[in-house]
Amino acid sequence: MSGPAVVECRRLRKGYDEVLAVDDVDLDVTHGELLALLGPSGCGKTTTLRLIAGFEHPDAGSITLDGRSVAGNGAFVSPEQRKVGVVFQEYALFPHLDVARNVGYGVRDRATREARVAEMLDLVGLAPMSERLPHELSGGQQQRVALARALAPSPSLVLLDEPFSDLDASMRGQVRDEVRQILREAHATAVVVTHDQEEALSIADRIAVMNDGRILQVDTPSELYANPADRFVATFVGDADLIRGEADDDVAVTAIGRLPLAAAVDGGPIEVVVRPEQVRLRLDGAGEGVVRDLVYFGHDQLVAVDLADGSRIRSRMGPGRAFEPGDRVSITVSGAALAFPSAQVRLT
Ligand code: ATP
Repeated sequence: MSGPAVVECRRLRKGYDEVLAVDDVDLDVTHGELLALLGPSGCGKTTTLRLIAGFEHPDAGSITLDGRSVAGNGAFVSPEQRKVGVVFQEYALFPHLDVARNVGYGVRDRATREARVAEMLDLVGLAPMSERLPHELSGGQQQRVALARALAPSPSLVLLDEPFSDLDASMRGQVRDEVRQILREAHATAVVVTHDQEEALSIADRIAVMNDGRILQVDTPSELYANPADRFVATFVGDADLIRGEADDDVAVTAIGRLPLAAAVDGGPIEVVVRPEQVRLRLDGAGEGVVRDLVYFGHDQLVAVDLADGSRIRSRMGPGRAFEPGDRVSITVSGAALAFPSAQVRLT
């Protein structure tokens, strides 16, 4: 991480009745970065975002925005005073205002408003549609209006809460790329909340993985994928299977043979993380696995294989149909695998 922090959350806590929605969260977002807050439903992502925006008061901890204390330590700055732009899941555009008026809504300075709106509409590629009403736009276009509206007052920070989930799957990838491009061009600092690991991996400079109110790891997408901090991160970010084994220094002894480990693990029972792209299958009447099923994606397919010890492993392979359920296959794993001692395994 480099550059000054725009957001600094320290030991942030927020509970509702029985639920500790945000539990001791420390989070820094640096200038110009796009950080994804990734985790399963109910893990506290939206609550974290609402605390940063000022829609919620923390029970404990503090938040600093651009060096100014906005929550905690006796301070509380209202959302309007925080210089934070928010894009909600359903965009929340004003239905009776045209595109230009929606975008200009938060720009207080009348003298510069028109020019700023024109600049924002150019940025999001909607200048020709400035007089349309929201219902005359596609979902992706509405999304860009919402983003232009959030960026127009030049906020220190833009918060986006599941901004792509209302879009058709066919549009999502394209709109995601556009949003990333727009945020980059605007040199915006942004936090995107998502439960979709593919979305987080493809859009973010860094990802904060959250579960049960806690942040488990903050890292670049490639680091998270290559060096997950624990079993939860390993299986939540990217596809991975866990197979049982015994550690023998830097080798795991498993039902599919001896697998080299990326790092030595203390002896004893371990769980070995195997990514489907590491797994190769070969038709072999005496192999150690039996093909259970195949999931076809067009560009590739995932072949699930049952092992004798009851665990399952998947192989990602080309689209050609090489196997059938019931086929006996031998399995090889390329590269070194990660492992976690079984004693540390959290049953989720
Ligand atoms: P999702 O992806 O489903 O939106 P999330 O990760 O954003 O989930 P939050 O919305 O932050 O999770 O919720 C965290 C926990 O706090 C959940 O158990 C939720 O039920 C609870 N919660 C959130 N807001 C409230 C509230 N206003 N009153 C009571 N409980 C709440």
